[in-house]
Amino acid sequence: MILETFPVGPLQCNCTVLGDEASGEAMVVDPGDNIPHILNLLEKHRLKLKQIVVTHGHIDHVGGALRLKKVTGAPVLLNQNDLPLLKMMSVQAAWLGVATPEVAPPDVSAEEGMSVGIAGHTASVLHTPGHTQGSICLHFAPEKLLLAGDTLFAGSIGRTDLPGGDSRQIIRSLHDRLLVLPDETRVIPGHGPETTIGEERATNPFLQSR
Ligand SMILES: [Zn+2]
Repeated sequence: MILETFPVGPLQCNCTVLGDEASGEAMVVDPGDNIPHILNLLEKHRLKLKQIVVTHGHIDHVGGALRLKKVTGAPVLLNQNDLPLLKMMSVQAAWLGVATPEVAPPDVSAEEGMSVGIAGHTASVLHTPGHTQGSICLHFAPEKLLLAGDTLFAGSIGRTDLPGGDSRQIIRSLHDRLLVLPDETRVIPGHGPETTIGEERATNPFLQSR
């Protein structure tokens, strides 16, 4: 498995390129910005992009998805509950003081239980609302890997004070959907350093008692 995660854009969203050497297929998760760098990586590993998955509709995660789709032809997957956030992209851009990226509704809504991914590496979609109503995590069970978007961070959790956020709901998502995963599950969050489910279960102050 080829796995490259790197921060993109002013908010340093973690973008991940996941590829399969045998089939030459790749998926990109959260192409918020820096599309030329993503294209360079695909070329460096000789990968063909099959799928673009966006964990939620915030500008720093979805901002480059349509540009990447236009260059590669790969479909974009995003949960339909975040369509209202796509419609307010100019408002989101104003929060950051950046230009409004062109966005479009996803080709496919990434729904709870759906399988996404590429030959050799498939993930199931976990719908984990709370940071936004359409927030999803991707769980690659055999690889013991979770791409957590902005639901879980090392030592913290996603903010819930933006439109669509719900603090009780994110705690429920974390306990019911993420803390049930094996301790050794490697977690790549939407921002910041990677962690594991076991580490967060033991030390994350937001996940202790409820
Ligand atoms: Zn976010």
